[in-house]
Amino acid sequence: MKCPSCASTLAAPEPRCPNCKLTLQALDVKFGALPRHAMYFTDRTDRVPMPEMAAMRRMLELFHQRFPQCLFSVFVADLPRGTRVGEYAFWLANRARFSSVEQVHGHNFDLLLVADMNGDAAALNAGYGLEGHLEEEDLAAALDAFIQAMRGSDMPAGVQACLGVVAQRLDARWMALQAEPGPTPMTAAAAGGTWA
Ligand SMILES: [Zn+2]
Repeated sequence: MKCPSCASTLAAPEPRCPNCKLTLQALDVKFGALPRHAMYFTDRTDRVPMPEMAAMRRMLELFHQRFPQCLFSVFVADLPRGTRVGEYAFWLANRARFSSVEQVHGHNFDLLLVADMNGDAAALNAGYGLEGHLEEEDLAAALDAFIQAMRGSDMPAGVQACLGVVAQRLDARWMALQAEPGPTPMTAAAAGGTWA
């Protein structure tokens, strides 16, 4: 996994990045109260048209039906200027509860895509349980598919393409996601990028 702030590689989930000293507690202070969020799709900008939102929610539901252990959530917001969307996605993925069911033994197989409309940037975060199933390059490819579509302001196409890449990579390597004990709600890998 990689630190979402300084991108240094960590051998295992750690409460604090040994390089830049990042902690979730520091991000709590930085980002404040958790925003309201929905299981599949959250639009905090109030600018995503209803039909597009419905279409994307349906895509995310279908993905969840195909990979029941894996909840893919999309969070769209106008983050304050200067916010690093990768840090924000990491914080939100670790602090917000998107799934309605308790994570099995704290294992996290969920994915979170954060689109920052203010910064024209996005980040994709994968739960630690997906390590070994999704590599950093898979997440980078999935995020890139989203960003390409965002360059044409087509968010539904972006979400569709992003889900397509993740599904294809998971299919290629899918093994039974056996839950093992251990509280590791951290990031396996993350990708970030901009479309501006
Ligand atoms: Zn760091």
